[in-house]
Amino acid sequence: MPTAYLGLGSNLGDRKQNLAQALELMSQRVVMERLSSIYETEPVGYQQQPLFLNAVCCIFTELSPEQLLGLAKEIEAKLGRIPSFTNAPRPIDIDILFYDDTVIKSHDLTVPHPRLAERGFVIVPLAEIAPELVHPESGKTVRELLNDLGTIAGVHKWVELGEVMNRRQNV
Ligand code: AMP
Repeated sequence: MPTAYLGLGSNLGDRKQNLAQALELMSQRVVMERLSSIYETEPVGYQQQPLFLNAVCCIFTELSPEQLLGLAKEIEAKLGRIPSFTNAPRPIDIDILFYDDTVIKSHDLTVPHPRLAERGFVIVPLAEIAPELVHPESGKTVRELLNDLGTIAGVHKWVELGEVMNRRQNV
């Protein structure tokens, strides 16, 4: 079954709850294989907005990349994301980071995600769960991409995501 990596971010409302709900909705349609911790991160681009919570997950899925993007958009809409400007505040943002070693450059979808290598809030959690994963275009491992970023400011481990999911299941 294909393996994909997703990046999730939230900086509006109950951020932790938004991440947990997005993962719960996602896991109804795909196999949730591994979760990173949650990181609290400073906004990139448009700075005048709240801090983000970010996490990444590894999934197994029979959905095509396009179907997976459709599911991500469906979950974003369900959790109240109003499409606005790039890098705007959002209850939940879901990006497809990798889909096996597939390279896609279509109008709606670029995989691997074009900005993942420059984003500490993606590379740091990704390095936690998949340091040996190889970027199919650059040929670099996630560990190498992390090293390339040098000192990373504004990305702090916040909570183990497994704890959040377990706590929700126990409620
Ligand atoms: P953003 O506002 O950054 O979340 O951008 C969302 C849009 O980016 C979506 O409408 C997608 O069509 C497009 N997009 C292109 N590549 C990707 C990707 N790898 N993951 C998620 N969205 C993508």
